[in-house]
Amino acid sequence: MKTAIDNSCKNNEENHILNDEAYFSRINAGLARFLDASPDAFHATENMKNLLEDNGFTRLLEGRKWDLSSGGSYYVTRNDSALIAFRLPEGKPAGFQIIASHCDSPMLKIKPNAEITVENTYVKLNVEKYGGMILSPWMDRPLSVSGRITVNTADGVETRLVNIDRDLLVIPNLAIHMDRTLNDGYKFNPQVDMLPLFSDMGGAGKFMETVAEAAGVSESDILDTDLFLYDRTKAARVGLNGEFILSGRLDDLQCAYASLMGLIDSTPGANAAVHCVFDNEEVGSGTKQGAASTFLRDVLRRINLLTGGDEEDWLCSVQNSFMVSADNAQAVHPNHTDKADPVNRPYLNQGIVIKYSASQKYTTDAVSGGVFRKICRKAGVPWQTYTNRSDMPGGSTLGNISATQVALNTVDVGLPQFAMHSACETAGILDTAYLAKAAEVLFSCSVSGEGDGDYRLNF
Ligand code: ZN
Repeated sequence: MKTAIDNSCKNNEENHILNDEAYFSRINAGLARFLDASPDAFHATENMKNLLEDNGFTRLLEGRKWDLSSGGSYYVTRNDSALIAFRLPEGKPAGFQIIASHCDSPMLKIKPNAEITVENTYVKLNVEKYGGMILSPWMDRPLSVSGRITVNTADGVETRLVNIDRDLLVIPNLAIHMDRTLNDGYKFNPQVDMLPLFSDMGGAGKFMETVAEAAGVSESDILDTDLFLYDRTKAARVGLNGEFILSGRLDDLQCAYASLMGLIDSTPGANAAVHCVFDNEEVGSGTKQGAASTFLRDVLRRINLLTGGDEEDWLCSVQNSFMVSADNAQAVHPNHTDKADPVNRPYLNQGIVIKYSASQKYTTDAVSGGVFRKICRKAGVPWQTYTNRSDMPGGSTLGNISATQVALNTVDVGLPQFAMHSACETAGILDTAYLAKAAEVLFSCSVSGEGDGDYRLNF
């Protein structure tokens, strides 16, 4: 672990945090708790709400008038699966410092009327893919069900979180004896291969009853559901010295958690500090709670209006703002080193990854990359650079999508990891704290651009 720390400082002049072991333990313990308690976007949002309320943030509702105080801390959710939290400076904010991440992950979603009986012997559940997932890791391991349901009440419809908190389901592989080609690159059919086994015939007709019981409601009161499968494996430390973390949903709860910790630990400068976590990044962001929606713009405009800004103040504040789009990045894989760019090669535990793409799938340019490098330098944390190999298309993220709603100067970053979109992903235990510290510095400083190509950073 010490070696990784020392290597990681190579591009870092002001090394403030690397010897602060208490800080790393706090962030890593908190991240593991957050991952384990957040099997889906609804639970991740609920857990962020609880952390914010524990730290003095006041809840706002989009459908009610807001009353904002100078220096106040607030949060608002949309669809119970996207969240924006902000701290206001003393006095009118000149702009916004934003970190945007996402809280959804590729999973199997349970379809309506889920039970399917097999040869009057077994009950399995009907599911479909949510996002670009790797399917094979979901097999032969304990799974369960979480998400939300809506229930019928005397005066309307009420939402409840649900988590069947026990080992409940399995998606069994076919035996190698029944298909000798299984190790030669199997093409999964999600409608055939991925349906989880729920019970023997004793469980027929009981799936919704089980959901109702876990939610503490009666089955007849359930109106509708958004339910997903999740892997029961808890976050674990692996590596000789525990230098790696293995968990589901590191993409992108690792960035969301680091951003949240940065906000909680920050003291705003002249700008408002904004922690923004979208839903539905894994399916293209095109929902009311996704990065393509008006959620972020609506909240920023409202802050401008309620702190005394007019339409021109709004236009100025957009130029005086800076956004970090934080979504995990591909590290050089130990068994597939040829998949990475020849020069820009991120490794676990060696710092925040700044992502570049000539096609602007990543928003980073010389200005936003320069501003972010300066923030890392101030925070005393290392960074690395990532580009796709020029012969590989790579993935997409939320920065350039969010820019279609509110066109802010943005940098795309992430934390290095392996096995992105697997049921269980691997990342480094130093990197979360690096991003949390950079987030704290970003949220505490003032970055102003004024639209002339130069940026002033006031730490
Ligand atoms: Zn992601």
